[in-house]
Amino acid sequence: MGYRKFSSVSIADVRITDPFWRKYIDVITESSIPYLWNALNDNVPGAAASHAIDNYKIAAGLCEGDYYGPVFQDSDVSKWVEGAALSLFHDRDERLEALVDYTVDVISAAQQPDGYLNSYYTIKEPGRRWTTLREGHELYCAGHLMEAAVAYFKATGKRKLLDTACRYADLICRTFGEGPDKIKGYAGHPEIELALVKLYETTGKTQYLETAKYFIDQRGQEPNYFDMETSRYKGEYFNPNLLDFGLQYGQAHRPVREQSEAVGHAVRAMYLYTGMADIAMRYDDEELLKALKRIWQSVTKEKMYITGAIGSTEFGESFSGPYDLPNDRAYAETCASIGLMMFANRMLEMELDAQYADVMELALYNVVLGSMALDGKAFFYVNPLEVYPEKCVRRDCQHVLPERQKWFSCSCCPPNAIRTVLSVGNYAYSVSEDAFNIHLFIGADASVKIKGKQVEMHAESGYPLDGHVRYMVKLDSPIDFSINIRIPQWSKNTKISVNGEPCEVEKAQKGYLAIKRCFRNGDVIDAELDMNTAVYRASEKVRENAGKVAVRRGPFVYCAESTDNGENLHLVRIDARAQMKAEYDAALLNGITKICVKGSRMKYNDNKGGMLYYTDHEIVETPLDIVLIPYYAWANRGSNEMRVWIEEKNR
Ligand code: ZN
Repeated sequence: MGYRKFSSVSIADVRITDPFWRKYIDVITESSIPYLWNALNDNVPGAAASHAIDNYKIAAGLCEGDYYGPVFQDSDVSKWVEGAALSLFHDRDERLEALVDYTVDVISAAQQPDGYLNSYYTIKEPGRRWTTLREGHELYCAGHLMEAAVAYFKATGKRKLLDTACRYADLICRTFGEGPDKIKGYAGHPEIELALVKLYETTGKTQYLETAKYFIDQRGQEPNYFDMETSRYKGEYFNPNLLDFGLQYGQAHRPVREQSEAVGHAVRAMYLYTGMADIAMRYDDEELLKALKRIWQSVTKEKMYITGAIGSTEFGESFSGPYDLPNDRAYAETCASIGLMMFANRMLEMELDAQYADVMELALYNVVLGSMALDGKAFFYVNPLEVYPEKCVRRDCQHVLPERQKWFSCSCCPPNAIRTVLSVGNYAYSVSEDAFNIHLFIGADASVKIKGKQVEMHAESGYPLDGHVRYMVKLDSPIDFSINIRIPQWSKNTKISVNGEPCEVEKAQKGYLAIKRCFRNGDVIDAELDMNTAVYRASEKVRENAGKVAVRRGPFVYCAESTDNGENLHLVRIDARAQMKAEYDAALLNGITKICVKGSRMKYNDNKGGMLYYTDHEIVETPLDIVLIPYYAWANRGSNEMRVWIEEKNR
């Protein structure tokens, strides 16, 4: 067997029924997608201008005007198309489909006779194609176009955008690679690699896979392409700081097989590692897989926030050094955690190991959900773990916002979050010839082929509000196969039974319990996950979090907001040994399980002169009933203070 042991189940084959996710899918379909369409067309009062649809129209000669926006503005349209396509999998909607058809017509009209398709270079710098790969985002935008095309084709069977994307991909394959007259470069912002693999999987054209592999192999080789390009390119870079970030910014400082530490721009890194994994599993590339495992450890054991956020510094939107995880200055871009989910998802296709699914779940339930307002109409780009609103106006903290924004001048995250939530079914399960793997606990009906036969898996779930999930197998005739169910690392006491018979959960390997048997129609598996609240401490190497604790319940990391606990959260102390009470509150934040815990509030008395520093003091501690809410729901009640890591009351 090759390295690719499992395939994620297509979202076409997973119908989400679970109330928690259904609510998000409905909000996205009814609110976010029309809202983002308006934003792309500059029809949202008070929101930053996008101009993204107009850029395409101008490039197509359909209207007059000039290009506006960052050089990668095209990708916002592609991600919207992909999101809209994914929503059509869930609910067919003729009006939305007509809108996407119109958008596809506009995009396709901007395609040049040789297949090239990028509104910035077509309008602004037609003679400079492929000359600024380090920053020009042409290949990045091309990748998102390909992902949109694949999604729309799969959702509707309509080929127009797929054909457009293939013409562009054909040009890219003719332009880049070994051989005379070909460019030996690669993308400054990875994305094309994983997208070409998707296009290959959809069309079967091996040149797409080969070109994706070329981009992976070529990155960081000597002489360094980006260095050569920089010395050739006489103009200004779009980002004046680009060269300060160095080659690590785009993970081009050395060949990818030699890399061990996650460095540079966190989104670029995650998209690259996802593409590397796509190639590793299709070429059985041991060196690449070993590099990915080293990098995975670097990300998740040294550079990841407890929420699944990554990229701790605003400088280059990058990873910082190991254990440097500031809470209030975190960059923690939504797209980076989405990339982390994609990376985890690919690793799970090679190896059934719950460390990948645990992180995938963490990033999804905390950062990705938290990036969206509950009404689906405002978004976070940066996902801090601590906010003091008055500090956010300071120069070094301006990237941290206390409230979600309607739109951003660089708006990569909102449509990315939407397409990710809509494809949650794709992350939930994977299959092989004789196995069905359960990674995420979601109420859904999945339909897959095992040993050539149709198997329906019906899942009913109260998760994440409670820990019970019931799976019912539906099949025409008995089949011998294995259902591998994840035992989350956080679930300390998990119970699993088959038709009422308890399983030996301790036999789970790498966090998955294999239930191997001859399954018959109507067989039932019950999983009871341990939803007790748990107190977490950070490694003592994380200087920011010494003396602090965080609280988690199931997949959710919790936080305190000043709306519930009063201002000055830095003076609040939590009694980590006290009994914590988890209480469902249907009226709060669309229905959440809040956690109530004992603690105290500090008051420094006897500072009579209001001195900045003084010696005669008395600290008075008054009891406080602390209320914690899931991190994903923060900042839905206006601007206020928030903390994930809370000072611990003296032990
Ligand atoms: Zn983003």
